[in-house]
Amino acid sequence: MIRDVDVIVIGAGLSGLVCATRLVGGGARVRVLEARPRVGGRLLGRRVGDGVFDLGGQWWTSGQPRLAALADELGVARAPQHRLGAAVVALAPDGAPRSLPGRVVAALARGRRLAALSRMIARAAAGDLPAAWDHESVGAWLARELGDPVLRAHVALHCEMTFATDPDELSLLDYLTQLAATGGHGDPFDGRPGDEHRLVPGAHALPARLAAALGERVTCAAPVVAVRDGVGPVEVEVDGGAVARAGRVVLAVPPAVARAIAFAPALPPALAAAAQASRPGPVVKCVAVYARPFWRDEGRSGEAYLRPGLVRATVDACTDDGVAALAAFVVAGPARTWAAAPLAERQATVRAELGRLFGPAAAAPVDLACVDWGAERWSAGCVPTLPPGARAGGAAWRGAHGRVVLAGTEAATTWPGFMEGAIEAGEVAAAAILAGA
Ligand SMILES: Cc1cc2nc3c(=O)[nH]c(=O)nc-3n(C[C@H](O)[C@H](O)[C@H](O)COP(=O)(O)OP(=O)(O)OC[C@H]3O[C@@H](n4cnc5c(N)ncnc54)[C@H](O)[C@@H]3O)c2cc1C
Repeated sequence: MIRDVDVIVIGAGLSGLVCATRLVGGGARVRVLEARPRVGGRLLGRRVGDGVFDLGGQWWTSGQPRLAALADELGVARAPQHRLGAAVVALAPDGAPRSLPGRVVAALARGRRLAALSRMIARAAAGDLPAAWDHESVGAWLARELGDPVLRAHVALHCEMTFATDPDELSLLDYLTQLAATGGHGDPFDGRPGDEHRLVPGAHALPARLAAALGERVTCAAPVVAVRDGVGPVEVEVDGGAVARAGRVVLAVPPAVARAIAFAPALPPALAAAAQASRPGPVVKCVAVYARPFWRDEGRSGEAYLRPGLVRATVDACTDDGVAALAAFVVAGPARTWAAAPLAERQATVRAELGRLFGPAAAAPVDLACVDWGAERWSAGCVPTLPPGARAGGAAWRGAHGRVVLAGTEAATTWPGFMEGAIEAGEVAAAAILAGA
């Protein structure tokens, strides 16, 4: 039996926890129900070697005021991402890694075709894109419009790294709309250096600290299986049969995961279509710990950008307390193939790829941890995108369904898919409920 409250929040990710915190601040009695045995959702801190690392979301960039304010509120610091030195780049069809000095994105950003793509993002921000573009994939657009294979690989890699989605599976309209929702910062070609900051001790500290303050209001290992909004309070049923009741419910879970919840009445067509079409991109994030940051000694940044290749990108992940590490990302198509291999083989392929990029020392980390987000039942992947045709078909994950209010990063109007969007959606949902909307 779960005590009845004013508001039940489903999901103790960043969005649900921020929402609950603001509701409690406004005087509401709140209960948070979380499916996993832990809080944080797509934010996850894990010990690897002698350090604790973010194996989920990690970075803040300028233009994300809500995340900056929340970090300040919770005593979480920000530190510039280490990017000094040469990066390894392999975007040419021969696949050969080359060392490029300075900021790679800026170096690759010259080209009239890329300027054209930047203009398309500006049009998306103004809501001025033809709906027909929803029926075209990013991959088809690239193949038709970008003749230079290196530039094509660059845009495709950006698409994979931002959305963990193969360009052929992503609607051009959705891609441009999502980039526009990041205030231009998602524009891969603006070449703004020095934006990326790590959170210290890590992004995982945000949900941990929010949950600690909420205390017994948060119940873990309580997967919600049904939401019934009929006569009287809304009923929320947890796996195992326990039922909680509240005047309002906040749904702060990814749309693809929400499909498993039985809603009565059923979700309206736009929400049902969004939940059905939403495809969280597969991503594997690995952290390899070393005795020392040998790449820095060699004048390298630790960054690598590769397409094709199993590992699509690496970055320096050294901690402030001196634990040397590289983070490596396996995304989109390669992540699916990787996930199907036996564990020992999976780890060996990541080690071998690191060795190919940074030399033999990189192939022998002290410790290596990989989290396959596509295999996480309660996340189903990284950032959801819509395939060609879904937007035109009316899919939209936003608003409310009766007394059930949507939160979660996917419901945000700015920075959907990012921590900033998760906070926005949580705060907007809480404000609407407190205002009696
Ligand atoms: C590898 C990776 C790297 C990333 N990098 C960055 C980054 O650098 N910067 C950035 O801003 N963002 C990044 N992100 C995205 C960021 O982590 C997310 O946008 C954010 O954490 C989403 O928060 P949320 O609360 O909306 O959703 P979630 O974190 O997914 O929280 C939803 C919660 O609901 C729970 N849940 C699901 N179903 C149920 C159910 N039926 N009943 C009860 N509970 C349920 C889940 O267990 C989860 O805890 C990254 C994500 C990944 C995976």
